[in-house]
Amino acid sequence: MGIATVAVYSDADARALHVEMADEAVHIGPSPAGESYLRDDRIVTAAINARAEAVHPGYGFLSENPDFADQVIAAGLVFIGPSPASMRAMGLKDAAKRLMERAGVPVVPGYHGEGQELVLLASKAREIGYPVLIKARAGGGGRGMRRVDNPDDLAEALSSARREARAAFGDDRVLVEKFIESPRHIEVQIFGDNFGDVVHLYERDCSAQRRHQKVIEEAPAPGMTQAMRTAMTDAAVKAAKTIGYSGAGTVEFIVDASDGLRPDRFWFMEMNTRLQVEHPVTEMITGIDLVEWQLRIANGEKLPRSQEQIALSGHAFEARIYAEDAARGFLPATGTLHHLAFPAQSPTLRVETGVRAGDAVSPYYDPMIAKLVVSGPDRAAALEALSMALEQTEIAGSVTNVAFLVALARDADFAAGAVDTGMIVRKQETLTAASAATPAVVSAALLAASGLDSLSAGDDPWSSPAGYSHFHPIERQTSVQGAQGEVVAFLSADPAGRAMIRFDGERERQAIARDRAPRTALWPGHLTVFSGGAAFDYIMRDPFAKKAQSETDDTGMRAPMPGFVKIVRATRGDTVNKGQTLLVLEAMKMEHTITAPHDGTIAEIAAEGAQITEGTVLVTFEQA
Ligand code: ADP
Repeated sequence: MGIATVAVYSDADARALHVEMADEAVHIGPSPAGESYLRDDRIVTAAINARAEAVHPGYGFLSENPDFADQVIAAGLVFIGPSPASMRAMGLKDAAKRLMERAGVPVVPGYHGEGQELVLLASKAREIGYPVLIKARAGGGGRGMRRVDNPDDLAEALSSARREARAAFGDDRVLVEKFIESPRHIEVQIFGDNFGDVVHLYERDCSAQRRHQKVIEEAPAPGMTQAMRTAMTDAAVKAAKTIGYSGAGTVEFIVDASDGLRPDRFWFMEMNTRLQVEHPVTEMITGIDLVEWQLRIANGEKLPRSQEQIALSGHAFEARIYAEDAARGFLPATGTLHHLAFPAQSPTLRVETGVRAGDAVSPYYDPMIAKLVVSGPDRAAALEALSMALEQTEIAGSVTNVAFLVALARDADFAAGAVDTGMIVRKQETLTAASAATPAVVSAALLAASGLDSLSAGDDPWSSPAGYSHFHPIERQTSVQGAQGEVVAFLSADPAGRAMIRFDGERERQAIARDRAPRTALWPGHLTVFSGGAAFDYIMRDPFAKKAQSETDDTGMRAPMPGFVKIVRATRGDTVNKGQTLLVLEAMKMEHTITAPHDGTIAEIAAEGAQITEGTVLVTFEQA
């Protein structure tokens, strides 16, 4: 569109990709978001100084903050988004639900009132019927949300939800609603202009969630019927018109699909008054550039197309690639992305990322690395394209959820479209099971560690990886340290460029040619082998280094990630039972409850308020 861009950045992002891509960039403060990306004053000042005409708030940080929009407008700039008034109308979940109820949009049964006393909420919860869901009224990103199955757990869940909500949003008020068992999350993309017109761009299904957060999204929703689509899109357009909405917005619904998709079984959950992370799947099936529309509408133009001119074709998926450890409850991770390779982009495959090889995933922001977006003529074709794209993705230097995403994309129930928001939890064990390194993976690691994989094969004894010796090939010893322990191997190569590898008592014949073996990446002290979406990390053994420190022993519990100790529930000498809460860690803006792995007596426990690094010993037990 020929529009010049000015990026803002914090200390941590001084060399970030978005800074490099923008025409200009302005530094707005230190790394913590509260001192930079959440400083509305600094962003507005940066915009004024750069002589910008408009501000696009993206989809995080201040994107749904009406006070920020007010400041942008007061500075004489255009805010690329809805009016602050319509953001306010949808900003708090309780008020939004009351408004939608009045407008005739179906809302989840629950209590959305002002009263917050325990007795009141307890009686409301009883009326609604357990299980119930506590939600922070200012909530987002699944934070401040607790499922409660019986009345005895309500008080504890309430205080924990409030604590998290206060820390995250500065507002600890909550609402209580019916917990819908095995629901689907289906949302409708809408667009309004400043002339009172609103259109929808069909639905997205975001039911594949972990920790109430989306990981794979798709459009359209599997199993969608014409009656259901009409009912949902009508409700979404009505919701947007009720608040005089302009710009891009998403109306989220929760759907009880236990008996198929039925027009009387969906309820308004909330409206996101901004562009969504998963908007590319809508772009793929409609051929419409949503950001272009945002800019046009902010520029005072009418909606570029009428409802009849917006057609749906094909199917699209988006997978969110995060630095997180799926096997450890999807714990966010940090690290330097020493190696990063994605499949080639095309009209049916998009890679959206803010990082490049060598960049770090810092503890300051969301640990998302990239989004892979694919489309195909139908759902099966698009899903196959997604699996293949994920399998070609190579990331080394931090744990990622890529192998988990492949397992999900290849899951039979997911392929059948039988997905609800609880599916990942139910199948967590199978979806996050670490695959064992095959002999081909181990061989590739050994070849890479020995350097034999990168040498060219040929008849010339001087350049041949075989080297030269009389009578029989030279054997050299190499070892790598992997998840399954140390592997010592003997390698030799013949003049034809084939390597013989002997390890674990086996004899594995492995071609040196790089294109035949699993791909590998070397990074300081390590190497990673990529196979079927899984990344197998190996430490390259330095024979001169001292023996590594001792492993975690089974009497102590170590911090799974950097963070700080928020609450301590036990002291030295306490006898605790398996599963009992010992302490609560706060890390990456989330609370993590650490429970006793077995019965025992506490010998030492970390102090409340202590800052800890990954691997810090939190609790030790007395020897039985
Ligand atoms: P947030 O704004 O924190 O993301 P949402 O209200 O959008 O919270 O809900 C996030 C997710 O939580 C939903 O997609 C759904 O999986 C789950 N959820 C929300 N409300 C309910 C409910 N009443 N019953 C069951 N699950 C729910």
